[in-house]
Amino acid sequence: MATQKADYYETLGVGRDASPDDIKRAFRRLAMQYHPDRNSEPGAEQQFKEINEAYEVLSDAERRATYDRFGHAGLDGDIGARGFEGFGSFGGFGDIFDAFFGAASQARRRAPSRGADLQVQLELSFEDSVFGTSKSIVINRTELCGRCNGLRAEPGTEPQKCPGCDGTGEVRRVQRSVFGQFINVSVCDRCRGEGLIVTNACKQCRGTGRERVTRTIEVKVPAGVDNGSQVRLTGEGELGSYGGPRGSTYVVLKVASHPVFERYEDDLHVGLNLSFAQAALGDEVQVPVLDIDEKKETTEKLTIKPGTESGEIITLRNKGVPHLRGGGRGDLHVHVQVKTPKKLSSEQKKLFERLAETMEEEKNNKGLFEKVKRALS
Ligand SMILES: [Zn+2]
Ligand SMILES: [Zn+2]
Repeated sequence: MATQKADYYETLGVGRDASPDDIKRAFRRLAMQYHPDRNSEPGAEQQFKEINEAYEVLSDAERRATYDRFGHAGLDGDIGARGFEGFGSFGGFGDIFDAFFGAASQARRRAPSRGADLQVQLELSFEDSVFGTSKSIVINRTELCGRCNGLRAEPGTEPQKCPGCDGTGEVRRVQRSVFGQFINVSVCDRCRGEGLIVTNACKQCRGTGRERVTRTIEVKVPAGVDNGSQVRLTGEGELGSYGGPRGSTYVVLKVASHPVFERYEDDLHVGLNLSFAQAALGDEVQVPVLDIDEKKETTEKLTIKPGTESGEIITLRNKGVPHLRGGGRGDLHVHVQVKTPKKLSSEQKKLFERLAETMEEEKNNKGLFEKVKRALS
């Protein structure tokens, strides 16, 4: 032997106990990687030849056994001497043919494909997002031509059988490669795989069978949607091709903010200003709420307990935004803020001063009590 040959198992990157399937898989993977049509790196072609040689031996049980016992020497005069040139008669041909051309030789003609999706934005008031509503949107999309009904030919005329492919939509060409000859099936260029050629094109769509149309569509917006929510209108998108279904139109909602309510998930938050007197003595006040049944903003009576602190949150259960799924509603949180008066009449000032005095007495009494308590303990 002139040169030291690489071990066949090493060439394929498999162990000596590899199953025929393991060997086949390894060969396919490497053949794809080093095929001269795909890999132009120096040495790739040599690598490719070695991979084929290794596979040729290891995929044949008898030759593999000989190789296992005697190494390359056992095969001298067999494949090793014959070299790469004899490739056309190799057992590996079928596999490599599958690996490279199996997928490519299947024509992609007239495969139905789904139309593209469209997206439109819809602005909603805060109330509409909480109550739900129905709105019209205008979309511009492709539809079948109204004149030829998508047939592309002038009404009264018929498309002709394509002479390029004899109406089959496919063109078969015999190609030769290092592996021998094979048949390449491709989509007919003249009719783009349709098998038909329109000689008298429809005047309205110029033979495309399609036209751009502006459509007004009604969108039902469910109660509880939020800013950024999407409503999917199935089948309202672009036209599919070769009988494929229409795409969808996604309506992206843009919800305006509310002057009073703040939304966080399905809960609503509202601020409530109270005077010192209301906070100290308690009161009954009206707070804004959203009436889902009547679909309007209204008010509801809220009892303020005596001694309510600024910053306290009073929660009204089930007065928030309806849950989009599963029913029920979020809560309404009323955030209490006690307002310090900025301007006082002389009358109010006197009252506050009197109040301050009584509070001072109370504080002193409390201090005295503490002192006594400490002395006694
Ligand atoms: Zn037309
Ligand atoms: Zn054709």
